[in-house]
Amino acid sequence: MSNVQKEKRLSLVGRVAIVTGGNRGIGSGISLALAKAGASVVICYRRDEAAAKDITAKIEGMGKKAIALQADITDCDKVKEIAAKTVDTFGKVDILVNNAGIASRGKNILDTEAKEFHKLMEVHFFGALHFTQAVLPHMRKQGRGDIHFISSLETIACLPGHGPYVMAKAALEGMAKVLAKEELQNNIRVNIIAPGLVETEMGRRLVKANVGRDIKELYPTMPFRRACQPSDIGNLCAFLCSEDGGYISGHVIYVDGGGTIGQMLV
Ligand code: NDP
Repeated sequence: MSNVQKEKRLSLVGRVAIVTGGNRGIGSGISLALAKAGASVVICYRRDEAAAKDITAKIEGMGKKAIALQADITDCDKVKEIAAKTVDTFGKVDILVNNAGIASRGKNILDTEAKEFHKLMEVHFFGALHFTQAVLPHMRKQGRGDIHFISSLETIACLPGHGPYVMAKAALEGMAKVLAKEELQNNIRVNIIAPGLVETEMGRRLVKANVGRDIKELYPTMPFRRACQPSDIGNLCAFLCSEDGGYISGHVIYVDGGGTIGQMLV
């Protein structure tokens, strides 16, 4: 196979992606990687408009197309608006990355109020559900699509004090696995990407709260002497959407540099 043929199999030219929380952290790495592979990207952000503008400008600087749209993903009507605006602007939606998420307070289950569990479920599970339901009819109609769910290694580490987060991500994974089976006849691939610790605001805060240190100070103890970066997750997303990722669906892909379960989570 020539290099040109190889590049074509990895290309996302002509495809349209929505990335929730695509303005910063892991989502920004995903937005940039999908755009680099040729996709047009809709960046869904909640509050940080400046970050959304920055990523949009970076993508346009690559000669690719991007727009930033504001929505809280727990607002079902707003999510439907974003799906409609995406189709109005780009004519279709091919790729959805359910990435947006929040951390939890870190108390034991006994001491955690029910409303904290509801909050985490609202964002991680229902936010992803709203977006998935909003884009699926478009993907089915066009006979092709990719949906990625960003989960976490925490669903197998199940660390004490992480109850609401683990529960919400486990629910997310359950939805994704059923969806993968339901949609395979519609040529829609569904995968779960489960990172260990990633160097983002959420990751940095987690390290600070648990060991009182800067994440960079931990590099010598990490696989490959570095922390996982948003681009590591973005590159995997782009591959899974490409022709070369064509037979991968219904899986959880752990991205932890090979660190054994739980050890990477400080
Ligand atoms: P960050 O805190 O750095 O960024 C969170 C992103 O989610 C922001 O773009 C934020 O938008 C968006 N967001 C949060 N709540 C909402 C909402 N209600 N509606 C719309 N957007 C929302 O987190 P990360 O980038 O680290 O995390 C991204 C995903 O990866 C999350 O699902 C997280 O659980 C998961 N993850 C993270 C790991 C890590 O170590 N960092 C490890 C494993 C998984 P805005 O900026 O506008 O507020």
